[in-house]
Amino acid sequence: MTQPDAIVIGGGIAGVSIAAELAERGLAVTLLEAEPTLAFHTTGRSAAQYLVNYGNTVVRVLTRASREFFESGDEPLWSSRPFLRAGRADHEATLRADVAEGQKLSPATEFLDGPSIRELMPVMREDVVAALHEPDAMELDVAAIHQTFVRRLRAVGGEIRSSERIISVDHGAHWTVTTDAGTTVEAPIVVNAAGAWGDQVAQLADIAPCLLRPLRRTVAVVAIPSDIDARRWPLAGFERGDGVMDAYCKPEPGGLLVSPADETPSEPCDARAEEIDVALALEGLRKWTTLEGRHVRTTWAGLRSFVADRNPVVGFAPDGPGFFWAIGQGGYGIQMSPGLARVAAGLVVDGEIPIDLADAGITEADLSPTRPGLAGELTPGH
Ligand SMILES: Cc1cc2nc3c(=O)[nH]c(=O)nc-3n(C[C@H](O)[C@H](O)[C@H](O)COP(=O)(O)OP(=O)(O)OC[C@H]3O[C@@H](n4cnc5c(N)ncnc54)[C@H](O)[C@@H]3O)c2cc1C
Repeated sequence: MTQPDAIVIGGGIAGVSIAAELAERGLAVTLLEAEPTLAFHTTGRSAAQYLVNYGNTVVRVLTRASREFFESGDEPLWSSRPFLRAGRADHEATLRADVAEGQKLSPATEFLDGPSIRELMPVMREDVVAALHEPDAMELDVAAIHQTFVRRLRAVGGEIRSSERIISVDHGAHWTVTTDAGTTVEAPIVVNAAGAWGDQVAQLADIAPCLLRPLRRTVAVVAIPSDIDARRWPLAGFERGDGVMDAYCKPEPGGLLVSPADETPSEPCDARAEEIDVALALEGLRKWTTLEGRHVRTTWAGLRSFVADRNPVVGFAPDGPGFFWAIGQGGYGIQMSPGLARVAAGLVVDGEIPIDLADAGITEADLSPTRPGLAGELTPGH
């Protein structure tokens, strides 16, 4: 049996980033991942984008606070990919208001009219006449970011064990975690970074659930005509009319990545793209652009997991000493991972949120596993 200071459950971006922060703060850390490879589930299936003008205020502050990490990597962790949230004439007032709001955290955010939109993306239909533009939005190299955390964890002696699905979590003097490979690890702290499986892992530990909702989101990569050079196009999200995206697309090797921005409730699982959602993605592309998108090269789907208020859940459980929640990263888990991992390590090691993040407005109550915002109707969002 191994006896680290902390066990981290899950080798997605949440698990590796928090494990690296804890290990660098001096804790002996063992990370256990069910799959043979890390980042196999949601982390490996994202749209890989960094957008400050996306998600609720807590998400935006954590995203903004993560910028320095992405900028200062030894190797490039991102590259330019501006963001357009585009709409028709009746969306203009909403978009203008969102530009004013967005400038608070992302000062370069601006409003664009139809001709400026088509300068950036010539295939946009003529009735697309209003957009929020975030020119310094970025495309993330998710594999490099994930690997950076893995390297940092290993550099300070952290242990990573894959093909180790946790099947029991028992509490005595310490937590004792057992996996389907027969491994037993004991530690005073368990970090639940199991993504869509967060509530299932809590159930193993006899901890009350956080009412996590895994929601499937679908991606199709479609071919585009060979005479179109889309490489510099932005990520373009299209308005549905209520502040929520109807669909989005962005350049991808092989063509254009298109998503219907679906949010279909799902059990935690190895999510697969459904035909109907791929059809909706193509319909979205045709509605907003002059592209046909007839040839689908590949599809995938992943689970974005939220609690009702769409804030992440990061903090110690009240009903199990040393059981730490790190779930509910929704559709922003990569872009806010550096900031959120620092919050988690601050709460575990110092009992408080790092001062810069607290000054930026992040509170324990925003992220608490006991807040009222876990329950009820899912708030509208992206
Ligand atoms: C289509 C799509 C587009 C997205 N686009 C973006 C984007 O542009 N930008 C952005 O920042 N985010 C985006 N996201 C969201 C982002 O991918 C997630 O927020 C993030 O990956 C969540 O990471 P995680 O570590 O919590 O979950 P996961 O990556 O799912 O990791 C959880 C891990 O826990 C493991 N696990 C579960 N149960 C057990 C167990 N019992 N024992 C051991 N291990 C276990 C799982 O095997 C899994 O590897 C997108 C997601 C999707 C699906």
